[in-house]
Amino acid sequence: MANWGMAIDVDRCDGCNACVVACRTENNVPPAGPEQAAIGRTIEWLRVERHVEGEFPNVRVRFVPVMCVHCDEAPCASVCPVSATYETPDGLNAQIHPRCIGTRACAQACPYTVRHFNWGEPSWEAPLEQTINPDVAVRWKGIMEKCTFCVQRIRRAEDTARGDEREVQDGEAQPACAQACPAQAIVFGDLDDPESAVSQQAESPRAERPMEELGTGPRVFYLKEGDWRGSVRPGSSD
Ligand code: SF4
Repeated sequence: MANWGMAIDVDRCDGCNACVVACRTENNVPPAGPEQAAIGRTIEWLRVERHVEGEFPNVRVRFVPVMCVHCDEAPCASVCPVSATYETPDGLNAQIHPRCIGTRACAQACPYTVRHFNWGEPSWEAPLEQTINPDVAVRWKGIMEKCTFCVQRIRRAEDTARGDEREVQDGEAQPACAQACPAQAIVFGDLDDPESAVSQQAESPRAERPMEELGTGPRVFYLKEGDWRGSVRPGSSD
């Protein structure tokens, strides 16, 4: 069984947001609309943060993609009163949408602010409803949602490999963000495979995990030269 994880090289990321568009399209992330967005009720499984480094005039803007980091010791899981979120044996932080009762306790407990609440029934203006991915359920009003590492793609790769009586090859299971990134800044794979690209990047001296000091055990590694800290901004729709 794989031990899924991700590495993001922020030295490669140029902030193009192709990963964000790919994530929204693959996972049927609904548009909030201008009125809901104006009061902070957007839904984004993946966002690209801007961090300014240095002092004027020698400043540099760095772009940092942020999604659910699939913690090994997830604070969200321990506060959910109905166990709607839990860790799968292969390391994913899963969300059972039909079980969620919408207390939003998980969003308050998550230090990465990557969980979002459906304030309204999702809808897409025509013809955008034709972009809905049939492999992914459209969620409904009153529940939480967040990045799944594109679990539908992982399971499809596993099913294909099982049918061929072999293991999933490195790079075969690709979340939409990793596949779409023109800079190849996002790498996904098996952290237990010493030959996988993600495990080698995770071992890099440039790698660190965001807010690791909290003991959450995030499965996303950020790579960058220098003493940068992979912080995330406070505040979100929830
Ligand atoms: S697609 Fe790649 S380069 Fe563009 S914002 Fe996302 S991670 Fe950065």
